[in-house]
Amino acid sequence: MNSQELWKKYEEKMFIQSAYRLVLGTTSFDAETIAPHKGDAYRNERVAYLEGELFSLQTDPEFLALVEELSRRDDLSFQQKRIIKWQLTDMERFRYVPKDIFVEYARLSMESSQTWKKAKEAKDYSMFKPYLLKTIEMSKKLLEYRHSDLKGYDILLDDFEPGMTIEKYDAFFDLIKKEIVPLVAAVVKKEKIDDRFVYLNYPAEQQRKLTEKILDYMHYDRDAGVVAETEHPFSDALSKYDSRVTTHYYENNLMSSIFSIIHETGHATYNAQIRDDIAETYCFDNISSGMHESQSRLMENYLGRTRGFWVNLFDDVKELFPKQLENVDLEGFVRAANASFPSLIRTEADELTYPLHILIRYELEKAIFDGSVDVEKLDQLWADKYEEYLGVRPANDAEGILQDVHWSGGSFGYFPTYALGSGYAAQFMHAMAEDLDPEKCMEDNEFPKIKDWLREHIHQYGGLYSPAEIMVMATGEPFDPHYYVEYLKNKYSKLYEL
Ligand code: ZN
Repeated sequence: MNSQELWKKYEEKMFIQSAYRLVLGTTSFDAETIAPHKGDAYRNERVAYLEGELFSLQTDPEFLALVEELSRRDDLSFQQKRIIKWQLTDMERFRYVPKDIFVEYARLSMESSQTWKKAKEAKDYSMFKPYLLKTIEMSKKLLEYRHSDLKGYDILLDDFEPGMTIEKYDAFFDLIKKEIVPLVAAVVKKEKIDDRFVYLNYPAEQQRKLTEKILDYMHYDRDAGVVAETEHPFSDALSKYDSRVTTHYYENNLMSSIFSIIHETGHATYNAQIRDDIAETYCFDNISSGMHESQSRLMENYLGRTRGFWVNLFDDVKELFPKQLENVDLEGFVRAANASFPSLIRTEADELTYPLHILIRYELEKAIFDGSVDVEKLDQLWADKYEEYLGVRPANDAEGILQDVHWSGGSFGYFPTYALGSGYAAQFMHAMAEDLDPEKCMEDNEFPKIKDWLREHIHQYGGLYSPAEIMVMATGEPFDPHYYVEYLKNKYSKLYEL
């Protein structure tokens, strides 16, 4: 069979897999947003079955042989070769795992996530602990089926961010520790920014209207997306044409939902701006976590927390909350959006202390997988590290080890990409500034100009290139964490007059 005939056969098989993924993705979004909990057990069984069926398709010897055969063909286009290359790399994650173990793991992940939710509400780690320990055990067991050149935690790090290893992350986090820990300590000693107005009462109904204003401003296409409400905000790309976001409205916190929305819209924008000829291929789904997070955090922090972003929006904010913001002007609003103080909850953390929350999780994960930690005591170790790096200690498990969903689903190796993404974003912004002035674009109400830059240099490619390749293509040099550290140092030294 000639290569293009083979390719056609491959596309047909991928189409069937994408149908499964769409159904599973839609069901998962439904479960996270509006599905009633009484349906959990019934749904879990059916979802586990479908996961198993998809797994069978992905590991079908005929399909694997087809992909392998394509990987040997020289007469494919560059794009086709790349798609096959990444797919083959990713197949290694599951192709040697026995189906029963895979299905058992999928079921455990669902049960574990649902138990985590209940345990968090009850602020009771003891409910979740057996699931976490089992998830850790299963994650380690799955590593035994990997045929990677890497070992242990390095395999997981590479899964979420191709090319990243413990060695590279250690270098990154050492720089954070050296430069940011003292900076946080210096900021703590300075006079606090007055952000009391942030914690007045902001009715959810009004906050929903503000969300719409922000989404309009960012040109989020509602015909290709939707906003839902969840405990933990997230985004979900079912396809380029259906890229959804969620948020959570806290009536005693104005900023929380604002920055969740901007963040998740950053993710959604990435998905929506992928080139059409890539959007229905494997390279739609394989964008690395670090790259994705770079785009969400770029919008949230590097754009959303600047004065420019709010120049054209602040009147709307005031109109929606006239009483609460009676004595607040644009400058005061932006200063409050950048106030930094050590806190316990990662998702609510400011830009400066944020990487320390990630450092803590990175150190714990590393220790879980090299066996240097007693997993029975993870909750205590969590609290100890918060005290060490941020000077705060959780009063209960919900503010401590129970706060994040990731470990319940077995996503070990994911957290470090959050800090890395912030680092990537600093370098992207530096490169963007050579072509346009983002603050000026926003002041002129021309947010699409920024989106265009991102599409041209980053988004259009989806996962066609590795993060390292995109970095060089977009910025002219390999990733350099100094851009990030310098950005934080400059910004916070100025803000707090250090
Ligand atoms: Zn994100």
